[in-house]
Amino acid sequence: MQDCIFCKIVKGEIPSAKIYEDEKTLAFLDIAPVNIGHTLVIPKEHFRSIYEIPENLLAETMKTAKKISGVIKNTSDGVNVTINNGGAAGQIIFHFHVHVIPRLASDGFGPWHGRRPYKEGEMQEVAQKISSQIL
Ligand code: 5GP
Ligand code: ZN
Repeated sequence: MQDCIFCKIVKGEIPSAKIYEDEKTLAFLDIAPVNIGHTLVIPKEHFRSIYEIPENLLAETMKTAKKISGVIKNTSDGVNVTINNGGAAGQIIFHFHVHVIPRLASDGFGPWHGRRPYKEGEMQEVAQKISSQIL
């Protein structure tokens, strides 16, 4: 896709610190890391987010993310594997990518869950609402 930074990285038009490549996927270091070694894994083909990427390429991309995680865990205390979808979720590059982020017990970033607790009865209601829409 024209004007997509990650497509340009795939084509070699923009340099990257590449760490793994296979037929369908590519992994390279994030230019503005959360911690040293923060890696991005992408499908070589352009898809905007998790909604558009076909299941087989999602699986290929996650396989690569698993390989990278297995290495990064050796020099960290934990690994976050995350995908941002949409601007409100923090996505700034609209070429699907998986973040593989080394975490250190001392990094002090803390958890981000538990910010919005359920009200009485709300949890079952929400579970039912989401599950009834899954195809
Ligand atoms: P998002 O917020 O979209 O999930 O994450 C996009 C990531 O891409 C950010 O962490 C950002 O630092 C990284 N990034 C943006 N531009 C470039 C670039 O030109 N090269 C590399 N290696 N990473 C980039
Ligand atoms: Zn792209």
